[in-house]
Amino acid sequence: MADLDIPTARQLVDGDWTPAADGGELPVLDPATRETIQSVARARAVDVDHAVAAARRAAPGWATTSPSERGAILSRWAALIGEHVEELAAYEARDVGKPRSGGRLNMYIAQGIVDYFAGAADKLTGVTLPTRTPDYFGYTRPEPYGVCAVIIPWNVPAVLTAANVAPALAAGNTVVLKPSEVAPLSPFALAELGRRAGLPPGVLNVVTGLGPEAGVALTGHADIDHISFVGSTVTGRSVMRAAAQHLVPVKLELGGKSPNVVFADADLDAAIPAIIASITENAGQNCYAGSRLLVEESIRAEVVERVAAGMAAIRTGPWDQDLDMGPLVSQAQYERVRGFLAEAPAAGARLVVGGEPATAAFDDGWYVAPTVFDQVDSDMRLAREEVFGPVLAVQGFRGVDEAVALMNGTDFGLLACIWTTDVSRALRVAGQARAGQVAVNQFHDAGVIGFPFNMQKESGFSRGGGYAALREYTQEKAVAVRLLDRPSA
Ligand code: NDP
Repeated sequence: MADLDIPTARQLVDGDWTPAADGGELPVLDPATRETIQSVARARAVDVDHAVAAARRAAPGWATTSPSERGAILSRWAALIGEHVEELAAYEARDVGKPRSGGRLNMYIAQGIVDYFAGAADKLTGVTLPTRTPDYFGYTRPEPYGVCAVIIPWNVPAVLTAANVAPALAAGNTVVLKPSEVAPLSPFALAELGRRAGLPPGVLNVVTGLGPEAGVALTGHADIDHISFVGSTVTGRSVMRAAAQHLVPVKLELGGKSPNVVFADADLDAAIPAIIASITENAGQNCYAGSRLLVEESIRAEVVERVAAGMAAIRTGPWDQDLDMGPLVSQAQYERVRGFLAEAPAAGARLVVGGEPATAAFDDGWYVAPTVFDQVDSDMRLAREEVFGPVLAVQGFRGVDEAVALMNGTDFGLLACIWTTDVSRALRVAGQARAGQVAVNQFHDAGVIGFPFNMQKESGFSRGGGYAALREYTQEKAVAVRLLDRPSA
């Protein structure tokens, strides 16, 4: 990895790798061994001040750089990501605990996102407006906000860096990014490649620190112009409160409790592997994870049996063995998931498979076995709250109305997946889903370019993903001009 080494106990501010002002550090752990991989700077308020000041100094120059030039730099950035996929994938896989191939897939996604916004940078336009008489001219112009704060969690850090930083930069903003200190290495490595691609000093700054320290300092900072927050619904509420102090606009991408809704006419050969992948990919630590399986009663027994068999066959291990699933990311996450595993049977759910630490062979890591609980009741925490682990809750339904009621029966509204070969029913149920995204006969957005990453209800509100994200990072100015009569010279 020599070409992309991340300096110890540093953060990237104003184009330089600098230590925290007080020299503080935080360890980054390998979830498969619980050993320290590396240490990063522990940013506090003063470090956040430095990063915001650097972003502010860089803002006018970057905003007035030609959009084509901004796009060209982003394009070089995407190319560099492509050239360093293996190193980047290793950073992320080890840091988060996902299999190497999962890390690799994330890097190709990140590259694609940066490339998409590279191409979009010089296609952001305003409109001319109709006027009541020919003596007026009206138009709008999209303008960058200025300094954008971006806060992301640890589960897919490279993709979330790309998805938030690339549109912000393409639209002419500068950025202060705070990744989670639990998994900061791939964001750091991506930012280093951005620097090499030609991002001027201060345009992209990355500070690592604890949420209550660096995160709070950033969201409450008086000199930021926009906040993008990706994380839990609980923290999202605090971020909104912080943003209210200075009336800063906020984009929130929060948690989920996404259902796979399986009707009796579904193509089960297509559905079963997708359902299993949707809750075991990244050890279930995805905001859109398919953590609820809602299945028509007439096929429930068959579906549960087939899903459980597939879950039991999932191979777990450390990132470099590149199996199907790794450990959970941290001790805190491990305790949280095991709390659900202990509580669900006591609440009346039937354990079908899993329910234990994965295997004694990996005692050193935070492994949890892929788990299926059947006969889950809507009142149980398992049916309503985000577990963020490989734990599937199964509920049965009879008929479309009950399916829709269950589908919409949580506080979240991120993604709903519908499995049926009846196209009319698929479209009707998609229309009734209270979710920002719907997938039919597939899980998530595979195959669609620029799919908007939208949310409803307590999953947040954003116009992420696709071209709309460029709009999210711009404010629209309206200009009205009166054309004065001038005597001809
Ligand atoms: P958290 O909300 O705990 O943390 C997210 C980020 O916010 C971290 O960088 C964290 O820092 C920081 N943070 C924590 N407290 C504060 C605060 N008071 N003010 C500002 N920043 C703060 O989420 P998790 O890390 O546990 O991530 C998992 C969550 O993220 C899940 O709910 C998941 O659904 C959601 N998520 C949503 C996505 C979406 O697009 N909708 C995508 C991916 C994940 P630190 O790590 O130091 O605490």
